[in-house]
Amino acid sequence: MTGQVQVLTHPLAQSFLTDIRDRRSQRAIIRNRIRALSVLLFYEATRDLPQHAQPVTTPLAETCGVHVGATVGLVPVLRAGLGMVDGILEFLPEARVFHLGLFRDETTLQPVEYYSKFAEHEPVNIAFVLDPMLATGGSAVAAVTRLKEWGVKSIRYLGLFAAPEGVAKLTAAHPDVPIHVVAVDSHLNDRGYIVPGMGDAGDRQFSA
Ligand code: URA
Repeated sequence: MTGQVQVLTHPLAQSFLTDIRDRRSQRAIIRNRIRALSVLLFYEATRDLPQHAQPVTTPLAETCGVHVGATVGLVPVLRAGLGMVDGILEFLPEARVFHLGLFRDETTLQPVEYYSKFAEHEPVNIAFVLDPMLATGGSAVAAVTRLKEWGVKSIRYLGLFAAPEGVAKLTAAHPDVPIHVVAVDSHLNDRGYIVPGMGDAGDRQFSA
C-alpha cells in the first residue's frame, strides 16, 4: 500500500465502522455513523488547510486569530456520497457542494457520468471527493479526472471502505491525491463489491 493512504484507526472510528458493517443495523444508525465518520475523516484530511490571519477583538483584548484561507468544495458522488455531506457542512458551512452523478455499469463495471454542474463555476482551491466505497476505483479516478479538468489544483478522497484494487487504481492514475478511509478491506467480489465491506452503500443509507 502506498504512503498516500491514511487509515483512520481511532477506536471510536473503528467502532462506528463496525456498526455500519453489521447487517442488522438500521438506516438511522448507518446514517448517523456515516455522518460522524465523515466529520472525522474531514478533520484528518484538513490538517494542512491554508489559513489567513484574522484579527479579532475579545471582550478583553485584541488578538490575532485565523480563518480558513482557501475555497473548499465537497464533491459527493451520487448517491452514496450524499450521506457524507451534512456533517462536514456543520464544520465548514461555507464549503461549496458540487454533486457528481456517476453510476457503475454493472456489466463493464465502468463509471458513467449522468450529472455534474461544477464546470459552470470557478474552480475551488481544494476539493474533497466524497464516496464511501473505493471499490474498483473507476468512479474515483473519473471524479478526480473531472475535477482536474475543471482546474482544481488540490484534491483529496474521503471514503469509508477501500479495496486494495481501488487504492491501487486511484494511486496509479492520480498519485497526488491523498486517500483517507476508515478501512482497507480484503478484496472485491466478482460483482465489484468490497468484502467484507458494508454491502450496497446507497441502499443501506437510503432504501434497504
Ligand atoms: N459500491 C457499494 O455500494 N458497495 C461496494 O461494496 C462497492 C461499491
